[in-house]
Amino acid sequence: MEATYPTNAIILNRRDYREADRLVSVYTPEFGRLNLLARGACKWGSKLAPHLEPISISKILVVKGKGFDYVGSAIMSEAFLSIKQDLNKLYFVGQALAIFSRLVREAEADEELYRWLEKWLYNIDDTSPNLPFDKEDGRFRLALFSWRLLSLLGYGTQLQTCVTCDENIKAGKNSFDLSRGGLLCSSCQTSMDINVMGNPLVSLSDNCIKLLRLIDGGEIKNIKFSPKLLKEWENLNIQRLRWLQA
Ligand SMILES: [Zn+2]
Repeated sequence: MEATYPTNAIILNRRDYREADRLVSVYTPEFGRLNLLARGACKWGSKLAPHLEPISISKILVVKGKGFDYVGSAIMSEAFLSIKQDLNKLYFVGQALAIFSRLVREAEADEELYRWLEKWLYNIDDTSPNLPFDKEDGRFRLALFSWRLLSLLGYGTQLQTCVTCDENIKAGKNSFDLSRGGLLCSSCQTSMDINVMGNPLVSLSDNCIKLLRLIDGGEIKNIKFSPKLLKEWENLNIQRLRWLQA
């Protein structure tokens, strides 16, 4: 890495640091996720601060420092105003970026992941009247975001056959095995005591399994989740994220 380098950066979040500085977490196409020091960003009239607002894309200059690398300059190129002016969008995008920051390790470049996150933000920012965004839409998009992100990070799922016996999954009492990232059939579940063994299983309904298979197959256009199924999917995502971060 050069001592100074320019890059595009999606601003994920920031926090105050020391008296007048801020630590800004950004995602870049060339260097992955970086934690950068923004000197004096807490001071009134800071030139940097307005260009390092979370949920924005900025062109920044990264300067190698002794402790943290720091932001030499920043110019915002995309403010995603439609997200910021809609509390509902703001809430769900904030949640998504928090999940992203927690799961994506520092300094691992992945340009495909950068393009994906960028496209996701532009999609939510879209203000076309045929793209309403209510609370249900937000929950669905956040669930889809978590599911896809996990798969892009290498945590794909096995939903056709059982992770233990490899038999095709039949309708009935199936569970998702968090440690192996796939479905466990009913006969394999009864052969082990999930409580005593502490195997992290989440039971899944047949309808939820069907929808998740469609999603993995890329058919999301005509998918409609009932509130009950959406809740089931959200719960599975929460359990998977917890398991991966434990
Ligand atoms: Zn089995």
